Amino acid sequence: MANTIQAIRGMHDVLPEQTPLWQYAETIIRDVMAAYGYSEIRLPIVEKTELFKRSIGEVTDIVEKEMYTFDDRNGDSLTLRPEGTAGCLRACLEHSLLNGQVHRLWYYGPMYRHERPQKGRYRQFIQLGVETYGMAGSDIDAELILLMDRLWKRLGIRDKVRLQLNSLGTIEERKAYREELVVYFQQHLDALDEDSQRRLHTNPLRILDTKNPAMQDVVAKAPELMAFLGDGSRQHFQGITSVLEGLGVPYEINPRLVRGLDYYGKTVFEWVTDELGSQGTVCAGGRYDSLIEQLGGKANYAVGFAMGMERLLALMETLDTIVLAKPVDVYMVRVGTQAERAGLQFAEALRTAVPALKIQVNIDSGSFKSQFKKADKSGADYAIIIGDDEAGRGEVSIKSLRDEQGQQTLPNSLAIAFFQNYLASRK
Ligand code: ATP
Ligand code: MG
Repeated sequence: MANTIQAIRGMHDVLPEQTPLWQYAETIIRDVMAAYGYSEIRLPIVEKTELFKRSIGEVTDIVEKEMYTFDDRNGDSLTLRPEGTAGCLRACLEHSLLNGQVHRLWYYGPMYRHERPQKGRYRQFIQLGVETYGMAGSDIDAELILLMDRLWKRLGIRDKVRLQLNSLGTIEERKAYREELVVYFQQHLDALDEDSQRRLHTNPLRILDTKNPAMQDVVAKAPELMAFLGDGSRQHFQGITSVLEGLGVPYEINPRLVRGLDYYGKTVFEWVTDELGSQGTVCAGGRYDSLIEQLGGKANYAVGFAMGMERLLALMETLDTIVLAKPVDVYMVRVGTQAERAGLQFAEALRTAVPALKIQVNIDSGSFKSQFKKADKSGADYAIIIGDDEAGRGEVSIKSLRDEQGQQTLPNSLAIAFFQNYLASRK
């Protein structure tokens, strides 16, 4: 390995034995998005640095210390997207999708943050993002939560996650709260770490979001934002909780949930788990109406969230209930020169007739015995065996690799019917 090149720290390969679980989750995600009438949008991975500075906020972890920013050959400052909300909104504004229209969108792909790599925290990670535009009513906030509730159930991990909710109110309400918060933290200055002391005047709400265990006590006793909410914000929040209660979706109110990004207002929520140590937030989002004007659009409404796929997969890996599709159904063993040609032809005919059947053909001959070992190892249910005799007669032999059914030799057409039945009975 002396001279091989390694991947970048915190950026991981997903190896073939891991991809079936990813694909399983991705299929369910697509299904659930479709069930709510959401459309997929595909966005660039690189955007102008300015976009993230303007949207996420200069005084946030992401912009201060996590972005992969570089000058391209023209000297323009570009950034590998650390999240998808800014790019999604940028695209919708650029293509005039928000003029009097309602949109429900989702995207899926890699995000980049220069963080300290650890379990559940990587420098390249995959997010599912969901963004909705043009809807003021709290029912859309509730719909996003119901959609995730359904997704957890379909993925089999509903009992591993809990919903936490809070309201950040309006800009004015937050301003009043912010003043009171600064007064409180000034009274407890020695309890604040260096980061928080610096944030006291730039972004004091972010102090509530600290992960420093030594600060949990001072944060727990801080004044709560809920007390500063006006009627409009209260009604919006109650609109959500009454839908959840009506449908029996449990939630917890977490008054210290503020989210790390600047653009949220009113609703914020997180789905958290106790099973992943300190990387316990699997999915997070909220309402961010004000970002639209901040990025140059006309006043409008926006609610969305993002889910971390690696954290989701870590939860799913603990399940023993998931049955994953096997990569191979049928493994073809070919012995003899004529058989090699006839085998390829039959495999093609079988793929045409039974498109869903997964057929792997042994290449680079080898003895019957060594080919048969590979057939067993492939995980296939059946081996198709073809020698020169069978080839000459237009026949193949089929042998079950899962039980002692013995071997049967069939004309090609009946062998095709055999595998049609096999697939039909498996469904
Ligand atoms: P955290 O508090 O864990 O740093 P965050 O508030 O920075 O998360 P968001 O920006 O809201 O996270 O991203 C939404 C989700 O994306 C997170 O809940 C998490 O599941 C996932 N996520 C964020 N950063 C990472 C990362 N570095 N590695 C893996 N997943 C991540
Ligand atoms: Mg973070």
